[in-house]
Amino acid sequence: MKNKILSVKNLKKNFHDKHLEIEALKDISFDVYEKEFISIVGPSGCGKSTILSILSGLENPSSGNFKYSKDVTIGYMLQNDSLFPWRTILDNCLIGLEINNNLTKENKEYVINLLNTYGLGDFLDKYPSNLSGGMRQRVALIRTLATKPDILLLDEAMSALDYQSRLAISDDIYRIIKNEGKTVIMVTHDIGEAISMSDRIIVISKRPGVVKNIYDIDLDNKSTPINNRKSKNFNYYFDKIWRDLDVHI
Ligand code: ADP
Ligand code: MG
Repeated sequence: MKNKILSVKNLKKNFHDKHLEIEALKDISFDVYEKEFISIVGPSGCGKSTILSILSGLENPSSGNFKYSKDVTIGYMLQNDSLFPWRTILDNCLIGLEINNNLTKENKEYVINLLNTYGLGDFLDKYPSNLSGGMRQRVALIRTLATKPDILLLDEAMSALDYQSRLAISDDIYRIIKNEGKTVIMVTHDIGEAISMSDRIIVISKRPGVVKNIYDIDLDNKSTPINNRKSKNFNYYFDKIWRDLDVHI
């Protein structure tokens, strides 16, 4: 039996400007199960980031509700790696623990261990400017994992990177997330990235966002994201989601 970790019901969100009201989300409902990898896909401006802001508690919905099944902790990772250039890699990764006043010897060792395990052991005392974009993204993920969140919210976490780095880092990020047994809600506008990484994909319509379709991604020989792109039913999902998005240029 899969355990439900989050239930989202009929979320609606209007933003009020001085002059006008923007209807960002109209009706968003979905469930998330423990250790599931969910992607939210939709055109730019459809309200994807707004969903994550609501789920992380930064914004309130205008109506509707969401409920975590237990007392979960959340890790939120944004597009920009937002590492502090004046802090070392290790000190960047410890910042969440410092803020939570939870920088114990054990927690610090946990973070050093993550950095060692995921190929950053030689860079603890280096600065972000010494690292490639892909490595910085890996550091940002480890910083997010440092506080041991149950659920990771990833907002276009890889889209600032060039295409090749993005493919490589999706393999990396996927491996780390699976090893650490996390539940993930990832927002992306990249259909291929979503299919290659997810158990389920929620497709949002253009603004005001409603759930257009939800797909269980059932790939042959599911393995790493890069290999999953070669799966024979990858294109089946790609075509369906492409059609849902109804892109006009
Ligand atoms: P996406 O992440 O899918 O690109 P967003 O969730 O960022 O979309 O935005 C959805 C819509 O809501 C956009 O039209 C955006 O301009 C608007 N919006 C987002 N945040 C705010 C805000 N704080 N105030 C006013 N409008 C906002
Ligand atoms: Mg966004």
